[in-house]
Amino acid sequence: MTATTTPATSAPATTAPGTTDALVVERLSKSFGATRVLDEVSFSVEPGRFLVLLGPSGSGKTTLLRCLAGIERADGGGIRLGERTLAEGRTHLPPDRRELAMVFQDYALWPHMTAAENVAYALRRRRPTKEQSAAQVAACLDRVGLGAHAERYPHQLSGGQQQRVALARALVARPGLLLFDEPLSNLDADLRERLRVEIAALTRESGATVVYITHDQAEAFALADTVGVLEQGRLVQLAGPEEVYQRPASPFVARFTGLAGELTGRATGAPHVGRVMCATPAGSLVATAMGAHDDDAAVQVLIRPAAVTLAEEPGDPADGRTAPLASQSLTGTVADTAYRGRGYDHVVELADGSRLTGVFDRRACPRGARVRVTLDPDGCFAYPASSARPTGAGQDAAPLSDRTPVEVP
Ligand code: ADP
Ligand code: MG
Repeated sequence: MTATTTPATSAPATTAPGTTDALVVERLSKSFGATRVLDEVSFSVEPGRFLVLLGPSGSGKTTLLRCLAGIERADGGGIRLGERTLAEGRTHLPPDRRELAMVFQDYALWPHMTAAENVAYALRRRRPTKEQSAAQVAACLDRVGLGAHAERYPHQLSGGQQQRVALARALVARPGLLLFDEPLSNLDADLRERLRVEIAALTRESGATVVYITHDQAEAFALADTVGVLEQGRLVQLAGPEEVYQRPASPFVARFTGLAGELTGRATGAPHVGRVMCATPAGSLVATAMGAHDDDAAVQVLIRPAAVTLAEEPGDPADGRTAPLASQSLTGTVADTAYRGRGYDHVVELADGSRLTGVFDRRACPRGARVRVTLDPDGCFAYPASSARPTGAGQDAAPLSDRTPVEVP
C-alpha cells in the first residue's frame, strides 16, 4: 500500500487510536472559599461529539475545564469517560492518567523545546521508538500546516503558529477527549476564523469527544454540535445551536447570544398558539411567548438582529391600518449606519427612544432617515417581565449591547 497523507493512516501501529468515549458529568460542584463557582453542573457528550460551553467571564468555564482535566479537584459530583471514573467521591485521577489533552488560550508550549519536541513530548508516555515518534510528530505538524517549522522554537513562531503547535501536541497522542480553553482569544480576527475552521475539521477527523469553552457566541454557534450556556456556575441551557438561538431558555441566554434590542410592555392577548401580542411604547408587536402570559401582565421583548428587517420609509399612516403585517412594523429614525462589506448595519431609534442595533440591509440608509422596521415574531421573545428585568435597567428598554459579545476587530 502506498503512503497516505493523513496521520490517521500513516501513523505507526504503536499509537493505538484513542478510544472515543462518552463524557458524563454529574452534579459537579466547586467553591473557592465562600464563592460557589460551579453549582451542580450536569451534562453528557456523546462519543465524538463537540460540546461548546459558552458563558461570560467569571461564569466558571475554566474551572469546569480544569476539573475535567484533573488540574482542579471538584468538591462534589462525578466525571466519567466511557467506563472509567475520572473523579467521584475520593477518586481523583491525576491529569496524566485521564487520557485527554488540553489546548489553552496562551498556548502553553515549552519555550526551550522546538515545535517538534513540544509535540513529541505528548507521546512520551507511549514510549515510542525514535522513528515512530518522529514520523507521528512530522505527520501531525504537516497536518496543521507547520511541516516546515518543526525545528523552530516558540519565540520564532507567530501566535497563530504557536497555537497550531499546541493543536498538534493535543492531537498527536490521539486522546479520546480534547479540551479547549478559549484557544482563539489571543489571535487576530482573520486568523481566528481560519484556525476555527481547522479546529472543527481536525477534531472531527480525530474522532475525539470535545469540550470547548468560549465567551464568544459566534464561535460557539459555528463550532458546536451542542451548546451549553453557563451563568454564574450553573448550566442554564444545553441544546443544539439552532435551538439556543431560536428558543433561548431565559433572558440571560437570549442576551448573551446576541440581541438587537429590548422592549418592555404589556401582554394584550394571544393571536396564535405560542404567540403573544405585546403593547410597547414603541408600538405593538407579536412575539414568541416564552412562558405563560396573563392579559395585561408586564412583558419584556428581546429581539434578535436576524428578526429585524429594514423596510421602506413609513408611508401614509393609512398603510398601518390596512397592511396585514402592520402590527409587526415599528417606525423609527436611523441613528447610525456602519459599512460591513456585505452591506450595512444600522442603529434604529424607535418612537420611544429605545434602539435596535445591528439592523442589516444591503443598501445604506442614511443617518436621520425615517424608516420602518419589520419584526419577525420567530425572533422576538416575550418573557414574563419578572424573569426578564435586566440588572440595573428599570423600565428603560435600551439594548444591553454591553452584554452582547462583540467581535473585536
Ligand atoms: P471563566 O473561565 O468563565 O472566566 P473561571 O472559572 O476562571 O471563569 O472563574 C470563575 C470564578 O471563580 C471567578 O469568580 C474567579 O475569580 C473564581 N476563581 C477561579 N479560580 C480561583 C482560585 N484558584 N481561587 C479563588 N477564586 C477563583
Ligand atoms: Mg476562563
